Amino acid sequence: MKFGKFISGTKKFQGVVVDQLIKEIEGDIFGEWEYTGQSFSLKEVKCLSPLEPNNIIGIGANYVSEIEDLPSVPPKMPVFFFKPTSSVIGHEESIVIPHGIEKIKFESELAVVIGKETKNVSEESALDYIFGYTIGNDVTAPQFFHEDGHWTIGKSFDTFTPLGPFIETDLVPSKVKIEARLNDVEKQNSSTELMIVSIQKMISFLSKVMTLKPGDVILTGSPIGAEMVGEGDFIECEIKEIGILTNRFVTTKEAVEVN
Ligand code: MG
Repeated sequence: MKFGKFISGTKKFQGVVVDQLIKEIEGDIFGEWEYTGQSFSLKEVKCLSPLEPNNIIGIGANYVSEIEDLPSVPPKMPVFFFKPTSSVIGHEESIVIPHGIEKIKFESELAVVIGKETKNVSEESALDYIFGYTIGNDVTAPQFFHEDGHWTIGKSFDTFTPLGPFIETDLVPSKVKIEARLNDVEKQNSSTELMIVSIQKMISFLSKVMTLKPGDVILTGSPIGAEMVGEGDFIECEIKEIGILTNRFVTTKEAVEVN
């Protein structure tokens, strides 16, 4: 099932997408919800981010290339980082390049949406806590990585986390392809089989540190091929089973210095 959030005129609503039709729903997608009986054509609405995440957690350097072998022993402590929820935008919204720099990086990723409270779970049961999957673009300004290795600032600018267009609940995450096209040219196209730390491991590890909650989003890492882009560039992040998340890069209108 595909869940999304939309706006038509001034009406914001959530719905279930069936082909080109959105069936409006009311309620909490993680709990009780029901159809209202109203439908919209996908063509007549604008997609919003399919959820307002509770927390956003990313993982760094989590893919090998097609010609590399997966490490025989996965890292004991993966590199996780947080992104602020204020960085979330939806499909077709603009990604704003911060003042003072010309290029930032796109990263097309499979994004896990947690569906229930998750604490101290095993790898074997970890997938049971997932509500669904969406596409995330983990936009990054490496110029703002701290020399001591902290990534937070470079990951945190407004508009740096496009999500969408939908949350797909029926997906087998182990074998989907993560694609990205920059100005119609393919840049990323890797199977999730090339992930170093599996989704099960990520959830189990994180759940031993923090209680994961419905609406938490885990960005599961970017396949090889992400690169720096500039004003006017157009990025399409695609996972066939979910959809295509497209955004354009623009520069800021107002000059805001970050010192
Ligand atoms: Mg990333």
